[in-house]
Amino acid sequence: MASYTKQDVIDTLTDPAALRVTMYVKGLWIGAPSFSVLRLKIIDGSVKVEEGSKTNAYYLGKENKIVTQMVSSSLEHARALLLHECTHAVMDVYRFKVPAITNEVLCYITQYSYLNNKIPGFNVIVDKSLDPTSQNALWDSFYKSVWDYARNLQGYVDITDWQFLSLRNHLRVLNIYQHLSEATMYDHDGV
Ligand SMILES: [Zn+2]
Repeated sequence: MASYTKQDVIDTLTDPAALRVTMYVKGLWIGAPSFSVLRLKIIDGSVKVEEGSKTNAYYLGKENKIVTQMVSSSLEHARALLLHECTHAVMDVYRFKVPAITNEVLCYITQYSYLNNKIPGFNVIVDKSLDPTSQNALWDSFYKSVWDYARNLQGYVDITDWQFLSLRNHLRVLNIYQHLSEATMYDHDGV
């Protein structure tokens, strides 16, 4: 199975729907200017891109490396996920020190801002037949909340307001993030 390439990451960072993401948070501008800086760092190799072999992508802060996911049927969702990982990389480039939970929520907001920009009428459907305490239902409702936050975003993110805190609390009950404590930090030590 093929995976997304360095060129796919670069194409994501020049996608007009990505360049329209505008998110000011504690002095950092996540959007066109920082995506452009990251793109140059990827081109010159100071941020590496590795073609991974999983359905998920991730960012390795210590190694300054984006690991891409396997090629999927939806280019929009694939690019949204790549942009999520690029947002981790941007925070690394700017040595943006916030707890990992906050960092993660910001990446999801970027991901869903992109989807809102990219797909006209984009919506998240919640399967109401699921047990509301099941992980599938908790993921569905998290996506719905992030989508809602992203579409009402006015360019400025206050990480202390209740909507943002609610996303953080929600993230912490999701299976892959339960290991994060309030004080867990990423290795976002610069590139
Ligand atoms: Zn992430």
